[in-house]
Amino acid sequence: MLFGYRGGECMKVVVNEDMCEGHRKCEAAAPEVFEVGDDDISRVTVDEVTEELAPKVERAIRLCPRQAIAWAQ
Ligand code: SF4
Repeated sequence: MLFGYRGGECMKVVVNEDMCEGHRKCEAAAPEVFEVGDDDISRVTVDEVTEELAPKVERAIRLCPRQAIAWAQ
């Protein structure tokens, strides 16, 4: 079951840059969505998360040790 993701709606995902510590677990879980820069801050590279990629993003949210990733509308 996906928590946070509501299928059928346009969902965005955001990274709180103040909390991010560059662990790169998000990038490993969903490389199509997250990219960690040389500054060790993860950034979202897509405008919206497709239903197909949602499970990967959910995994990234769970794996992030800083809880820096969240769904947004
Ligand atoms: S896993 Fe979390 S803390 Fe690590 S780079 Fe990704 S968003 Fe930042």
